[in-house]
Amino acid sequence: MTAKIPVCVLGATGTVGQKFVRLLADHPWFEIAAVAASSASAGRRYGDVVRWRETVELPGAIADLTVRESAPPLPGAVAFSALDAEVAGPIEQAFARAGAFVVTNTRTHRMELDVPLLIPEANADHLALIDRQRESRGWSGAILANPNCSTAALVLALAPLHQAFGLEKLFVSTMQAVSGAGYPGVASLDTLGNVIPYIGGEEEKIERESRKILGTLGPSGVEAASFAVSAHTNRVAVIDGHLETVSVGFRRRVTPDEAITVLREFRAPPCVADLPSSPNPPVEVDSRADRPQPRLDLERGRGMAVTVGRVRPCPILDLRLVLLGHNTIRGAAGQAVQIAELLKADGRLEGRA
Ligand code: NAP
Repeated sequence: MTAKIPVCVLGATGTVGQKFVRLLADHPWFEIAAVAASSASAGRRYGDVVRWRETVELPGAIADLTVRESAPPLPGAVAFSALDAEVAGPIEQAFARAGAFVVTNTRTHRMELDVPLLIPEANADHLALIDRQRESRGWSGAILANPNCSTAALVLALAPLHQAFGLEKLFVSTMQAVSGAGYPGVASLDTLGNVIPYIGGEEEKIERESRKILGTLGPSGVEAASFAVSAHTNRVAVIDGHLETVSVGFRRRVTPDEAITVLREFRAPPCVADLPSSPNPPVEVDSRADRPQPRLDLERGRGMAVTVGRVRPCPILDLRLVLLGHNTIRGAAGQAVQIAELLKADGRLEGRA
């Protein structure tokens, strides 16, 4: 039997960190060698300090780990970062400098020219950016970024349509779950029976990250795709799952049937399709009039598939549709694990077991 590759989780006590722990607990290629968080948690038993919110039991061996400070050296060829964005920058850089592949969920490094912003099904070729990054920064490790959670679902659903028809205009309005704000997140008195029409920084993230992910790898980094994006973001009283209503305009007129065919036939490239975390298919189309819904459709593809519904003509742009993605799985920990799997499949973790 091949030895598993050791990994560590930074920010392991938080919402996304717990999802990492759950997904990595029985991963076929990786095993958790260390969990880390803030100084307030460091030195204590993980099982005692974490407010475990996952619906499966915390494995005893992980519960017994002592939480470490979020600073190198820590065991692990890959450092999954679910750190608070306010502190993540220097910590992630220190781990990359010390030789780890840092797969981060924080916003900090996403838009840097030499950092790949990845959705493996859409832009696995951008992985090559880490060679430039390591060379220019003199790092033996590297930083790879996961997009913001609402962008991850949106862009996975739109990538096949962009490849087939060329996106020109995109209007999106989101209904985002409270778990997207981390723990303890939005106060219940603010969110219950309410909709908050503002999520700080989220609209800007959707607008710039979507163009980078669907951009083209050129000599000076990623040349952003040129479509126009207008985003409205809202926090709703749902626990998990971001629902997004979208209108899109293409370079030519596209019918709903054409779009549905492209979405249904979309498959990940071979280097991604066989990864343990890759859903097949990545995008599911549901033709029922009232779907997708967070409560009913969130677990498709073990939380890694995006569900699209209500594909219909738009009187202003070409098409309208609704999409749903799991914010802490496809939009965070699940896709970060998939990115690390891509690193391994690409031979970049050789000799790290
Ligand atoms: P969270 O629940 O607030 O967890 C934050 C984590 O950061 C905790 O483990 C916390 O440890 C740790 N931390 C805080 N201050 C620290 C410090 N000074 N040094 C080291 N560790 C520190 O947040 P979250 O929702 O899991 O989000 C984590 C990151 O992922 C954020 O950058 C967020 O923007 C991003 N993200 C979140 C989602 C989502 O759906 N929630 C989706 C995509 C991306 P202690 O417990 O010890 O304080």
